[in-house]
Amino acid sequence: MSISKPSSPFPSVDRLSRDPQFAGLVERFGRTASIDAIRGVLDDLRAHLPEPDFCAPQDPEIIEQAAERLNKRSTFSLRRVFNLTGTVLHTNLGRALLPESALAHVNMALREACNLEFDLDSGGRGDRDDLVDDVLTELTGAEAATVVNNNAAAVLLVLTALAAEREVIVSRGELVEIGGAFRVPDVMRSAGARLVEIGTTNRTHPADYERAITSDTRALMKVHASNYKISGFVAEVSEKEVAAIAHAHALPLVVDLGAGSLIDLSAYGLPKEPIVREVIAAGADVVTFSGDKLLGGPQAGLIVGRKDLIERIKRHPMKRALRVSKLTLAALEATLIAYRHPDRLVHDIPTLRLLTRSAEDIEALAQRVKPHLEAALGAAAPGAAAPGASARGASAPGAAWQVDVVSVASQVGSGSLPIDVIPSAALALSSVGTRSGSALNTLAERLRRLPVPVIGRIADNRFLLDLRCLEDEAGFIAQLGLLQALK
Ligand SMILES: *Cc1c(COP(=O)(O)O)cnc(C)c1O
Repeated sequence: MSISKPSSPFPSVDRLSRDPQFAGLVERFGRTASIDAIRGVLDDLRAHLPEPDFCAPQDPEIIEQAAERLNKRSTFSLRRVFNLTGTVLHTNLGRALLPESALAHVNMALREACNLEFDLDSGGRGDRDDLVDDVLTELTGAEAATVVNNNAAAVLLVLTALAAEREVIVSRGELVEIGGAFRVPDVMRSAGARLVEIGTTNRTHPADYERAITSDTRALMKVHASNYKISGFVAEVSEKEVAAIAHAHALPLVVDLGAGSLIDLSAYGLPKEPIVREVIAAGADVVTFSGDKLLGGPQAGLIVGRKDLIERIKRHPMKRALRVSKLTLAALEATLIAYRHPDRLVHDIPTLRLLTRSAEDIEALAQRVKPHLEAALGAAAPGAAAPGASARGASAPGAAWQVDVVSVASQVGSGSLPIDVIPSAALALSSVGTRSGSALNTLAERLRRLPVPVIGRIADNRFLLDLRCLEDEAGFIAQLGLLQALK
């Protein structure tokens, strides 16, 4: 590292390290790390030196920048956030929140040795799938089950094991793309299977399946078009009918359900999604679905179905590459076991608890939170004196904000139930000033910089905080006071 020459606009590391402010850094982060951070800041500043409008910062500013570096390094990259997007299973925000029982079970499995692949009855080697096989078959009515890393992996493995270099028949109406680059034709290609498209986008008939079957056909497949719906002049062949056609030709019906629920959500006033047990009962031979969508468990791909087919799938070498860890199995086992208690289910599984929260409850929550948000934003609250608003309210920087409780629609997310939306309530923040668009973006950024970042969405020139997924009301309110400092 070069020493600052007399002409350098920067202070020396030595001088900075004698600054009283620097002592604070040393206390928190240690001397070596603090010196390194100062050096890093100086190096970066030197790189900017040739810029015509460059202006060398003062000592305190350099130390401040070093402190920012050190702070950033000492926080995790993966952090808790408040998901106020209104999308319960938000793929970018980690999808399902796990039940307490799953957390406890994961904790045990990670802290202690466990019988991951050890048969406690015989004392011999066990199969990790056996840990969840019983409960999965019990809950789905299938003969056997296996688990891989996610549902995309499940589909890939099933097609590879059953149909590599052979044909799989799928309706054109089901050749969907699920977010994150999962496209049925691409997965088919990766699996080395030949996709035989039948029917049209809007209509497919039983005869289309019949006609497409050749000696090269290895499976008929149905894909639940999770994230879109076509309506109007449409015709789809039911699982039951496709199963009958498949079985008449001694072929299996493979169904990719995507979200695939274990219970009937319509019993809770939610739109009905396919239920795994019903699809198995309709004659599907292999069904795949996600662990972290409607099931409300860890990321996993669940494969259930006929014993002989599941055996073939498990024996394929790719299974070894796609297998899940004890973390996943522990979380999955506990989540599945929660389904044995239907009376407590909707309370115990956060995904179901959040999805079934009533709009009235959410609105009452919004009314409680509103004055706190108004105070934090320095919003004009006509008629209502916001608690703690006082001086801060008057000195609100930038735009003035109006906070309203509005009706919105939450989404299930993760490609499930896309059309059907769930009535909810949100706090709508609108800028009373002029530069509305940029003010909204600035506000969104300030909310993201809170200790527990708050993630909402911008719609119709307002910043919306859908409170469906807000359970930690006190924690949310407690950090709002910091908002003023984040300009
Ligand atoms: C979500 C989905 C997938 C992918 O599942 P992951 O668990 O995210 O890998 C595949 N197929 C369908 C129909 C889906 O909805």
